[in-house]
Amino acid sequence: VSPPGAGQPRTARIQRPAPAPAPVAPAADPKAAQIASLQNLGREAYTKGNYAEPPAASAVGYSKQVLALDPANDYAKTLLENSVNGGKYQAQQAILRKDFASAHRVADTLAQLLPGRSDIAGLKEDIVSAERAEEAARRPKGPVLLVTFRAYHMHTEKAPADKGAYCLGTLTVTAGHLKFVGESFSEGQYIHNFDFACSDVREIKKNARVASHQNGFHVRTGSFNNNFVPEDSSAAHISALASACSK
Ligand SMILES: [Zn+2]
Repeated sequence: VSPPGAGQPRTARIQRPAPAPAPVAPAADPKAAQIASLQNLGREAYTKGNYAEPPAASAVGYSKQVLALDPANDYAKTLLENSVNGGKYQAQQAILRKDFASAHRVADTLAQLLPGRSDIAGLKEDIVSAERAEEAARRPKGPVLLVTFRAYHMHTEKAPADKGAYCLGTLTVTAGHLKFVGESFSEGQYIHNFDFACSDVREIKKNARVASHQNGFHVRTGSFNNNFVPEDSSAAHISALASACSK
């Protein structure tokens, strides 16, 4: 069972930061006065939007100092949680602006101030996935894989069906490249891997003679001219390959 909201970025549920709490009245005894002063510094930082940054002079930083002196201090506990939310909100706003560097910086500062908090770890994951989604959206679209089929790469002019030497692999046209990745080979042979830019391919054509009964064809570039045979002997692969690699 997925938790509620699974698949939704956690940052989508972050609320605007709450208004700053009321200032604290000065106190008489020195420790109470120090706590009151730190609470007010924290409040001031919060008002300025310095939730986590700069770490030492942030609302989280001051709240931590108060809690070190007075672990039960509710004012500091609330201010700290509101400040964490404020930092998350800033990170979320940065994500929306696609300013991932700022989002990471805020999240890293929060993580450094409050190590081990799973909500902050979650925020960091959200930033990474938003960044990945943005990268994916920027990538050029279009068919990624145009043609792929298994083929024999002929090592002699004798067809594999007639026990000619070969390696067997996959021919693919993708992203403007014709690739052959060998997977197995006949006795005494070895596998090949080829990668040609389609712009260098001069001809992909069915052979008149070599393995012609199995729809043997050749791939020719300026420096390469080799014969292949579709594993299933289908002629349809040749025209598909030629048209995919001529684009
Ligand atoms: Zn080969």
